[in-house]
Amino acid sequence: MSKCPYCNTSYNEILQTGFVGCQHCYQEIEELKETLKKMYGDKKHKGKRVKANGNI
Ligand SMILES: [Zn+2]
Repeated sequence: MSKCPYCNTSYNEILQTGFVGCQHCYQEIEELKETLKKMYGDKKHKGKRVKANGNI
């Protein structure tokens, strides 16, 4: 489980609180990066669901 070395916040803590510890968390915590990618990715594909294994 990744942890941000700057603020020592873990991905679990971010999930629980809904807040990141600092701006570095986005880069340092792989799981958070992936989660954000999925969230924003879905928004970009308006009305179209991204398949789990889709190639784009
Ligand atoms: Zn941080």
